[in-house]
Amino acid sequence: MIVLEGKAVFEGIAIGKLSVYKKTEQSVKREKVSDVEAEIKRYEDARAAAVEQLQALHDKAVKEVGEASAEIFEAHQLMVEDGDYIDSVENIIRTQEVNAEFAVAETGDNFQKMFLEMEDEYFRGRAADVKDISERVINILSGAGSSGIESDEPVIVVADDLAPSETVQMDKDKILSFVTVHGSANSHTSILAKTMNIPAIINCDIPLTDEMDGREAVVDGFEGKVYIDPDAEVLAAKKKILLQEQEKKALLQQLKGKENVTLDGQKINLYANIGNTKDLALVLENDAGGIGLFRSEFIYLGSEDYPTEEEQFAIYKQVAQTMAGKKVIIRTLDIGADKQADYFELPHEENPAMGLRAIRICLTRPEIFKTQLRAILRASAFGKISIMFPMIISVDEVKKIKEIVAGVKAELDKDGLAYDKNIELGIMIETPAAVMMAEELAQEVDFFSVGTNDLTQYTLAIDRQNQSLDEFYDPHHPGLLKMLKLIVDGAHKGGAWAGICGELGSDLTLTKEFLAMGYDELSVSPGRILPLRKVVLETNVIEYKKEKGLD
Ligand code: PEP
Ligand code: MG
Repeated sequence: MIVLEGKAVFEGIAIGKLSVYKKTEQSVKREKVSDVEAEIKRYEDARAAAVEQLQALHDKAVKEVGEASAEIFEAHQLMVEDGDYIDSVENIIRTQEVNAEFAVAETGDNFQKMFLEMEDEYFRGRAADVKDISERVINILSGAGSSGIESDEPVIVVADDLAPSETVQMDKDKILSFVTVHGSANSHTSILAKTMNIPAIINCDIPLTDEMDGREAVVDGFEGKVYIDPDAEVLAAKKKILLQEQEKKALLQQLKGKENVTLDGQKINLYANIGNTKDLALVLENDAGGIGLFRSEFIYLGSEDYPTEEEQFAIYKQVAQTMAGKKVIIRTLDIGADKQADYFELPHEENPAMGLRAIRICLTRPEIFKTQLRAILRASAFGKISIMFPMIISVDEVKKIKEIVAGVKAELDKDGLAYDKNIELGIMIETPAAVMMAEELAQEVDFFSVGTNDLTQYTLAIDRQNQSLDEFYDPHHPGLLKMLKLIVDGAHKGGAWAGICGELGSDLTLTKEFLAMGYDELSVSPGRILPLRKVVLETNVIEYKKEKGLD
């Protein structure tokens, strides 16, 4: 039995087999071949396998995200079979007498360059697709397989670190737990683990070798340990805890359908955070009162190119309809910093967390922003949608945003398209500047939602992605708690309601404090709704305030 230690970012026990997550990137070597025709046959076979893979991905995507988003895989199939592309690969193999991998890589590069030089924006956008299909064929040729999890049963995913764009592609039903060598407690891998309600351990020195693949293991998210090939004693002990946890969860199920009201009658809304439509099942299962944060940037991260208005509309409409009249707060794209999509071609920055990100991209590239706003507004005709803007620093910014929203509404009126004329607009409070301007900002919007993940990073001057600073990243810092009180007071004075959607919102040790501060809403990972409800039901706010000597 091998015991490894790391930092637990979500509690729980997982028992299953390890699966080492494989990254696709690999270098291609130029090699001479003697049998050119055999090499061409190898390429033909790989092409056929690629088309098959793409068909399977298409069918999966249709089921999970709908026809519109699945179209990309059809387009990729056509590219794999494109006559010019095939001629080029075969020509390189024949004339240079080289291996198929090299010929595909060369062709991929050439076609990519050709597309990038085109005037038409649509064709320029195809460059990323060519890269993608070329990589797929190379992976098949070299037997590397596709990136991701290759198992039929649920597994413990072991990786170096996982980028948000990688996690969106994962089949969530197959994941029991995450164990990563790197990553920080506030990274999106941790957030994903919380959303899925599965244990996760980061900073764990686990070897990422083939030899690890398929070995039995236990992940203990309470003590931050991974047991590989656990002995009978450990296995029995952990199974017992797993059973107790399952019983606790079953008890929480009895809280479904209950109102979120304290013993002295104070009510609070408990909403869920989601990253895509697949999370909706968890939202309903955990009895969330609405969606307090839909991280819409995951739609962009899961695409090869800017998602169109129609693609986005289909997704927002599905969320609104599924929630059947319950509030759905869609945050406009919060791309940049740790959430990068190549086709945005964002400039390299020394300090991306303080760079061109989120609303700054929207305000400097209004066409992208307007496409998203049109899609959200149109979807608002099918449910109760609110729009929320991230990374706000000033009243001026909010005024500019409102002008753009008014312009988009006017366009929709002209086009005769329906939308909710009274749609609520809100902002995230994630910067100290916004905290200081809370009252003035509240006069401009309907609601606030505090992004404590970023607010902590910007207040403490600690990069939330930097794992070596985890010991300094203190979300309970008294300065931050004072800010949280300033925010809710400012909101109420300015006529807005206030919630928290950062990770701190689900910290059960602070729930009473948030109730005492007067927060109207907490939006948390779906799996945290019922534990939070339990604390709310057991709290007497008046007593708590007396105890703490609060007003
Ligand atoms: C936050 O910053 O607290 C937040 C909710 O947004 P994200 O984690 O997506 O940056
Ligand atoms: Mg944020």
